[in-house]
Amino acid sequence: MKERLTLDGDSQPFWKTKTLEQLSPEEWESLCDGCGRCCLIKLEDEDTSEVYTTKLACSMLNVRTCQCKDYANRFSKMPDCLQIDVKRARELKWLPPTCGYRIVDEGRDLPWWHPLISGSPETVHQAGIAVSSFAMSEKRVKEENYWRYIIPDLSTEEQQAAPEQPRQRKERVASSGRSR
Ligand code: SF4
Ligand code: SF4
Repeated sequence: MKERLTLDGDSQPFWKTKTLEQLSPEEWESLCDGCGRCCLIKLEDEDTSEVYTTKLACSMLNVRTCQCKDYANRFSKMPDCLQIDVKRARELKWLPPTCGYRIVDEGRDLPWWHPLISGSPETVHQAGIAVSSFAMSEKRVKEENYWRYIIPDLSTEEQQAAPEQPRQRKERVASSGRSR
């Protein structure tokens, strides 16, 4: 029997009744809204350990659709791509508050634009949540200039002042969300 995605036995959506640990693989995948925010290049200041987000997207990301160009083989093709699991969903401070995993873990309800609510992946773009509205591929920029593309912190409501050029290293992650 095909697994039901949205409702449990009490007619409650699964994201209201389950913890992250209790989600089936299919439910886990469906919580990813496909925004692409976790595929933006992060820079870590080696002196302060401060992590800054840039508007530069992983070279494997289709910036227009926010889909990974080879999601099934992403770890072999992009060795520093990380899979988001329950532990990382809780520990990675830079995950945006709009991320479906953070929303469920914090006991909030999914917003109108989430595909599980709207029924369409397009609403993530329409709401301006997807990085398609501002991101550009890292392929267009020399690595020593990545710091010039630092953007305000996406993980809080407050904006984070761009630093002087940090001693940088790259970090990237990928959701374990739906197949792209
Ligand atoms: S894991 Fe979260 S931040 Fe990354 S694409 Fe999915 S919803 Fe967006
Ligand atoms: S899922 Fe990984 S390899 Fe694919 S675009 Fe995102 S960071 Fe890059």
